[in-house]
Amino acid sequence: PKIGQNRISSMVELRPDWCLSRQRYWGVPIPTVYCKKCGTVYLKKEILQNVEQIFAKEGSDSWFVYEIEKFLPQGFKCEVCGSTEFEKEKNILDVWYDSSVSYKILYDVLPELSSKDIMYLEGSDQHRGWFQVSLIVSTATENKAPYSEVLTHGFVVDGEGRKMSKSLGNVVAPQDIIKHHGAEILRLWTASTDYSLDVRISKEIVEMLVETYRKIRNTIRYILGNLYDFVPEEKNYEFDLLDKYILSKLVSVISETIDAYKNYEFHQVVNTITNFFIKDLSNFYFDVLKDKLYTYPKSSPQRVASQKVLHTIFVSVVPFISPILSFTAEEAWQEAKSSNFVNEESVFLVDLTKIKQQVEKYKDERLEQEISLLSEIRDEVNINLEELRKKGVVGSSLETEVELKVFTEEYKDVVKKFEHMLSSIFIVSSVKVLYLEGKEKKFEVKVHKFDGVKCPRCWVYYKNLTDKGICEKCVHALKELGMI
Ligand SMILES: [Zn+2]
Ligand SMILES: [Zn+2]
Repeated sequence: PKIGQNRISSMVELRPDWCLSRQRYWGVPIPTVYCKKCGTVYLKKEILQNVEQIFAKEGSDSWFVYEIEKFLPQGFKCEVCGSTEFEKEKNILDVWYDSSVSYKILYDVLPELSSKDIMYLEGSDQHRGWFQVSLIVSTATENKAPYSEVLTHGFVVDGEGRKMSKSLGNVVAPQDIIKHHGAEILRLWTASTDYSLDVRISKEIVEMLVETYRKIRNTIRYILGNLYDFVPEEKNYEFDLLDKYILSKLVSVISETIDAYKNYEFHQVVNTITNFFIKDLSNFYFDVLKDKLYTYPKSSPQRVASQKVLHTIFVSVVPFISPILSFTAEEAWQEAKSSNFVNEESVFLVDLTKIKQQVEKYKDERLEQEISLLSEIRDEVNINLEELRKKGVVGSSLETEVELKVFTEEYKDVVKKFEHMLSSIFIVSSVKVLYLEGKEKKFEVKVHKFDGVKCPRCWVYYKNLTDKGICEKCVHALKELGMI
């Protein structure tokens, strides 16, 4: 990321010369020799070749074990004074030098790696350390950086941002989280942190994630539960505007998720998917769907359409969850597999690069804008409903009717387009719309108790029921089912 690039650049700019030698008793020796008589220093190829062979067999400690003669070529003499007595260098190399050449060792063993994209991944303290020294050595010897990407992370701290320590008693051990909540929760926590800064963990944070996990899991279960009689090959379906809307949203979710993965922003993956699951699906689409899923005839094009939507969401989103919630994703996939509505043997065999392409056709920006206008109205309806509930006037939202006045052209256009389905969007029994002139407000909402009778099958209220004691829609459904 940009921020890391800036940090490396400024630290390279400001760093002093690198003194490579250190005065320690143990380490990687500097393989030079001195003439005992005149002090001339030798770093000769022939000596280095000897050293290389011996080190390769016995390790660099052999420098300290053997007499100097072992490393010198036969008959080696000082070129200045002719002396044959030499002394070994006692300084060692700075330990950072050892780590700076780690890439070289790796590429020597696996030469095919040198042409690949290589990422250096370490804590943020390595801007001054490993990232920098590797860059210096590699630039000096190969004229290029040893890596194509560098990614850093902060350190784990407690819920208040303090360092963990035994004396403070604020240590949260990963083993404990696994023991109490399972490895999925730990993985979810790891993925959901913004690791560009220090990352916090505490009991409360873990509890919150357990809640998030439950919501993700319940959403997947809800989808699977409503696909029990789904036939993927069924062609007789008809998406309504809400189905199209949620599919369009799905396209954005998939694109954002892919971008987030590409940028290693795993917390954005978690955010995007949980927001979609909670806000768009649980709090909105599933609510509206209930009526269709539970009361429409099984093979009605509307019911099949909503199953088609649920299925599309399942096969598109679950694979993107699998790198993070691996067990949950695979468990769901196997259940879907046993009902024959997925093809791949395992969720891990799904080609993630093809998913976007498969759903892209559903993108409809205009519809998304229109629904976001309707959501404003829906929020207003819900506030009014809540008041009636508090006063004890109504229990279920289906006991009410909405009077909606719209004033501005923008809202009039959208409301007109959706007028036939407003009652199912608001989950009320009836919606009366008045198109009025006015500039002060965009719209106005009033919610009343509906004066009518409840259909015992779908729970919607009507002015009158049929002579069968249920509503028209339910009569139709029961006929299809062959029950009347
Ligand atoms: Zn000499
Ligand atoms: Zn009914």
